[in-house]
Amino acid sequence: MRALAREWHVAGETIGLVPTMGALHAGHMSLVAVARAETSRVVVSIFVNPLQFGAGEDFERYPRPVESDLAMLREARVDAVYMPDQATLYPPDLSTRVQVGGPTETLEGVQRPGHFEGVATVVTKLFWATHADRAYFGQKDAQQVAVVKRLAADLDSGVEVRGCPTIRDADGLAVSSRNAYLSPAERAAALSLSGSLRTAAKMYAAGERDAGRLRARIQEVLAAEPLVRIDYADLVDPSTFRPPGTLAVLAVRIGKTRLIDNHDVSKPFLADRNS
Ligand code: AMP
Repeated sequence: MRALAREWHVAGETIGLVPTMGALHAGHMSLVAVARAETSRVVVSIFVNPLQFGAGEDFERYPRPVESDLAMLREARVDAVYMPDQATLYPPDLSTRVQVGGPTETLEGVQRPGHFEGVATVVTKLFWATHADRAYFGQKDAQQVAVVKRLAADLDSGVEVRGCPTIRDADGLAVSSRNAYLSPAERAAALSLSGSLRTAAKMYAAGERDAGRLRARIQEVLAAEPLVRIDYADLVDPSTFRPPGTLAVLAVRIGKTRLIDNHDVSKPFLADRNS
């Protein structure tokens, strides 16, 4: 991968990296499309990163449909797919971890100890392996975007990190590889996530600026759905991931599935960006 990336740079190409864990969907492909438009060589990495899964999370059952992933990437005419195996990225004597402060200290960082350290470590390795000029991440994982931007700046990586809009199904549900775990009843319940964000954006548009009242209304919409258990629902600043701010961030559990979503309530909620 590094040799290929060097050749490209010598030839004056710019390299865009789209890191993924596979099980590709319209969200991932939207990142590929932005990368395609902004850089001359697009690399998609596929690696289900054990370091970013906690004990008891879904590492083992995470979907790995490699053949259909490769078919989608061939169709999108990406220039390279980087699929390192676990032993290549994490040999037994691996002794380094990348730890980011700041935006890792709240919400997902608190609820999933070690998660962002796993993300930061793999992303650093992927940046170096691919010699990326730009890297594309989905706003769906807004805290991850904040963490990776912090990491890229703090370590003088020279990589420009781009956060790209969340792709949603027509009914508002944010597209996610984990949606495949949901039963039809659970999927119906999951609409309360986007529903609560839409409600909060409408309240904001109607003049509501009190974070407490916006948060209470979001929690009310989620709580009205008996299958949903709230991990957190808060309004934060998109860089620090602490209040005050207008980014509404949610994590819920529905059955055995954990889902996250977010929206800047100062902007209209558009469910149909991908249609
Ligand atoms: P994952 O394979 O789940 O690790 O996701 C790989 C990248 O795709 C991350 O940057 C995600 O934020 C992004 N992504 C996942 N779902 C969506 C979505 N619905 N819209 C936009 N980007 C997404």
